Formats: sequence, C-alpha cells, structure tokens
Amino acid sequence: MNFKTARRRASKLIMLVLLSWLSSVYAAQWAVVGAGPAGIVIVGLLLDLGTPREDIVWIDPEFNVGRMGQYYSTVPGNTKTSLYIEFIQACRTFQDCAPGALQELQKYELALEYPLSIIVKPLQQITACMSQKVTTQKTMLTGLEFANDTWHIECANGFECDAQRVVLATGSYPRSLNYTNSPEIPLDCALNQQLLSESVTPDDTVAVVGSAHSAVLVLKFLSEMPVGRIINFYKKPFVYTTDMGGWLLYSSSGLKGVAAEWAKNVLEKNPPCNLVRVYNSEKARAAWLPLCTKIVYAAGYDRNPIPGCNPDMNYDTQTGKIAPGLFGIGIAFPEVIIDPAGNQEHKIGLNSFMQHALEMLPEWMRTKDVLWRFKEFEELFTIQVL
Ligand SMILES: Cc1cc2nc3c(=O)[nH]c(=O)nc-3n(C[C@H](O)[C@H](O)[C@H](O)COP(=O)(O)OP(=O)(O)OC[C@H]3O[C@@H](n4cnc5c(N)ncnc54)[C@H](O)[C@@H]3O)c2cc1C
Repeated sequence: MNFKTARRRASKLIMLVLLSWLSSVYAAQWAVVGAGPAGIVIVGLLLDLGTPREDIVWIDPEFNVGRMGQYYSTVPGNTKTSLYIEFIQACRTFQDCAPGALQELQKYELALEYPLSIIVKPLQQITACMSQKVTTQKTMLTGLEFANDTWHIECANGFECDAQRVVLATGSYPRSLNYTNSPEIPLDCALNQQLLSESVTPDDTVAVVGSAHSAVLVLKFLSEMPVGRIINFYKKPFVYTTDMGGWLLYSSSGLKGVAAEWAKNVLEKNPPCNLVRVYNSEKARAAWLPLCTKIVYAAGYDRNPIPGCNPDMNYDTQTGKIAPGLFGIGIAFPEVIIDPAGNQEHKIGLNSFMQHALEMLPEWMRTKDVLWRFKEFEELFTIQVL
C-alpha cells in the first residue's frame, strides 16, 4: 500500500469514527428489551459468558422485575422454594449480585410454595446490580427496524441503538373479554387481597371468568371477604400438576401450591355457599351475567404490543427465533412442549425461562462475530449439568 492510499484510508476511518460519534446511535451486540424475569435471565447469562458490558443494552421503563415485581409480590406463588434456589444457582452473576439470596431462600421449607415476594426481593437486588454492569435505558422501545444486517432500535426517550441481536422479553398483560357493561375489577388488582377487598361490597355479585391459577386465587380471596355472591364461569375442569415419576403431568397449566390445595379440598368438595360455578356458554352468560355487578377476567394473557412489529407475529416455539437476530423469551414467547401424555404445555415461570435460555443462547450466539463466546457457554453448561 502506498503512502497516498494509506492516508486516504486513515482519513476515511477517522471520518467514520467521527460520523458514528456525531450520529449518537449506540452500537451494541445485544439489546435486551424487558426487565421482567425473562429479561433478567438473558442479561445474567450474557454476563456469565463474559459479554463486555458495553456490548449489552438493557431497556425497560421500570426495572422492577416486570409484572411480578409491580403487581404480584403478595400473590401465593406456584413454585417450590427448591426451584428458586436452582434458578439462582444456574447463573453466576445472580449469585455475585445477591450473595445472601441463597441463604435467605434456604430459611423457607424447600418443598413448599410461598408468596412471590420471596423471589421478587432477590430479583430486585439482581436487577439493581446488573444495571450497573450494562448500559441501561429506563424507557420504552418505540421502534424496531431491520436494515443492513442490523436491528435499529428507537426509544421513547430519544435513545437510538444499532444491535446485532435483539431479545424481546416484553411480557404480556391480562386479557379482557368485554362480556358485560358491569364494572371490571382488573386482574392485577383482584390478585391483591387488600385492593380486592376495597373493590367489593357485601351487596356485590362478582363474576370470575377462568379456572386456572389466577382464577382460583381470586375465588379463594373473594370467598374469604364480605361479598354477596360469586359466580365462576369456567370452560375447562380443574387440572392439577401431578408428579408422574420422572415427568410432570400438566407441568405449567396445572394447579399447584395454595391454589391446588384450595381447589381440591374446598371448591371440589365443600364449596362456599355463596359461590356458584357455571359452564361458560353463551346461554349461561345470558342467564347469569345480568345478576353480576362486577366482573374479573382471569382468562389468560395477551402479548404486549411491540412497536414496529405485527401483534400476531410468529415465532419458533422451540427456539424462540422470530427473525434473523431477533429472539423472544418469557411469557410473551414461551417454549411449547408436548408432554408424554400428549398435552401441549406453554412453559411459563422462572425455571422454564432459565432452562430455555440455557438451551437456546448457544444457538442465538452462533454467528461469526460472537462465535468465541459459544465456547465459554459450552463450559458453563457443562458446569451446570455436573
Ligand atoms: C398469580 C400468578 C402467580 C404466579 N406464580 C409464579 C411462580 O410461582 N413462579 C414463577 O416462576 N412464575 C409465576 N408467575 C408467572 C410470572 O409472573 C410470569 O411468568 C412472569 O412475570 C413473566 O415474566 P416476563 O419477563 O416474561 O414478563 P413480564 O413480567 O411481563 O415483564 C416484561 C417486561 O417488559 C417490559 N416491556 C414491555 N414492553 C416494553 C417495551 N416496548 N419497551 C421496553 N420494555 C417493555 C415491561 O415493562 C416489563 O418490565 C405467576 C403469575 C401469576 C399471574
């Protein structure tokens, strides 16, 4: 290379550096959108793998452990303490960030389920600590575009970023069904006993739609407070998570913990006298809903909208891949499995997200520029298995 060419190349390089500095578009290998349990898992594992802090951008408006942190701390969980311990143990960064977490969890009965606060607190500590290790933006993602092999991200606070890989851990919100004009008690409020008791009076007849974990908890809470009548509209019979020796029947969809105990021993055997259960048909709704003064929909969750993306966008339910370099995880993009009895299960919950991330991150990383980190992941995974 002669002197002239070298000089031309050097000035071009300086121009490029200056331009990228002036354009104030951050460049990152990874953008993780969402700081609920699923986003926390991804950031933790990326840090475990030695991903440089400036290579990770983490975006969330709250950084408070998603819906769990915001609404469900007091809710009876469906996860045994031993599984929370396994969850923390699966990630070195979690243990570094919350050194007392394992000891605290070990104070609880390992085989029992407790209110979610027992895991929300360590997750808040982990979030605060990991936020110091990576680049965070406390804002909403407002735009996502793919061009020139890169994802361009725009946020509500004006932050822009070009990322090689984007992980959407953006969560879901409770589905509302519009059955009646009677006032709705939002599910997030109904799952908080204090707020629920402030929302009903002894004159109310409250409709509860659904028959899974959240619906059963709301029925239990209502039956323990002064309320007129409770009418439960159900479509499916109760199913219970059952240990089949080596695998769990209805591992995600089945009732567990407090909800399972109450459904089995109270609802199915000796229901409260002010509670009626009716099969959720159009005819039944026409007959019973006019009696109801309030309604709670506990009928599932819908994915939070992702700006710039089709709300019904498909994803690979095995790998979480949405598009090249775009991946989904968590309650919005759950892994789907068929259990040995042929039931389709959406794998939701901290341990499922961790397991899925441990399995999928090597695949998500398998590109030219990040190949070296795959080696580290294999080593980490071997340690976990042992
Ligand atoms: C009654 C009940 C009991 C439960 N018990 C358990 C249990 O015992 N164990 C268990 O493991 N799980 C339990 N769960 C499930 C658990 O709460 C959810 O699976 C979990 O919260 C989902 O985590 P997530 O990270 O996928 O989503 P979320 O918690 O919804 O977090 C998503 C995050 O993404 C952010 N976000 C959304 N859109 C954007 C955007 N455009 N830009 C930036 N950020 C965005 C949100 O602000 C939020 O912080 C329970 C749930 C309920 C309802």
